[in-house]
Amino acid sequence: MCFFGGEPLLNINGIKFAIEYVHEFDKNIQFSMVINGSLCTKEIASFLAKNQVEVIVSMDGPEEFHNRARININQEGTYRQAIRGYKNLKEAGCKTGISAVIGPHNEKHFDKLIEWVIEQKPNSFGLCLPHGDENNFAMKISSFDETHKKMIEAFDILHKNGINLVQVKQKMDAFIKGYAIPYECKACGKRIVACKNKKFGICEGPITKSEMFYDNIDKLPKCIHEYKKTSPFYNEACCKCIAYRVCGGSCVYDKLTRFGRADIQDKCRCGLNKRIAEKSMEYIIKYLPKSNENYILNTEDRKNILSKINSSL
Ligand code: SF4
Ligand code: SF4
Repeated sequence: MCFFGGEPLLNINGIKFAIEYVHEFDKNIQFSMVINGSLCTKEIASFLAKNQVEVIVSMDGPEEFHNRARININQEGTYRQAIRGYKNLKEAGCKTGISAVIGPHNEKHFDKLIEWVIEQKPNSFGLCLPHGDENNFAMKISSFDETHKKMIEAFDILHKNGINLVQVKQKMDAFIKGYAIPYECKACGKRIVACKNKKFGICEGPITKSEMFYDNIDKLPKCIHEYKKTSPFYNEACCKCIAYRVCGGSCVYDKLTRFGRADIQDKCRCGLNKRIAEKSMEYIIKYLPKSNENYILNTEDRKNILSKINSSL
């Protein structure tokens, strides 16, 4: 169960209630949360650690970059509040992640961004390509291709330092293991989004749009059916792409916002998926035994390649 906002910690009492309530039914349900860090006091951090909540803090890098994009109502940068909350979580022993949006404020400073992430020692790190349409500041990125390239370079550096770059690692593992990822987003049938006034939907993107949330969960299968059209498996134009098996079709809401349909390629993300597949191929070629001249991988080969990648990083 994941708590999203806005900012979930504005309703810490609601969260405490929800965790206790769910635990009455099932102690094994895991919780996660995405916050901006500013409201995370020591007391809240200790409550989250005690309940084993994995907490992802949205921060876009060192102060100089973060403050260019993440400002409060008075136009002041919010880095100091965010990092204070993050440190409280670390001190309390919480499992933490950092999620950074790439945009004009940090796209040219990947080296400093990655150095900073390594210093913060998160358990996981997500580099998010911007969502939405051209009205979103982060969509004014100068080159998606350059950003995709830098993300793959960042993957290697971060892994050598024991940090998982979430988006790249999951797809690379699936590519090498021979698995398929038909849908990248869990909105395609594996999640329900519940929001206030007992409204239900499948995707948190349109959280402010009441027409995408319903009083009754029986309406959700129809939405899921529409969202599932995002999969490259439904798009003939994708079938020759190197990333076909692991792409998963990216964010559906972005496609609906920009193109009005889900069954279309999103060039802002295609380049990254292709680079992940190419990087996986590079590893396969590097670590497959020379005796395997036909490059037909069996399960054992796939396992060996993955363990060599993990030990070499
Ligand atoms: S479709 Fe996009 S906005 Fe909606 S839940 Fe998935 S990733 Fe989030
Ligand atoms: S990366 Fe783009 S072209 Fe390739 S499968 Fe995914 S959506 Fe299709």
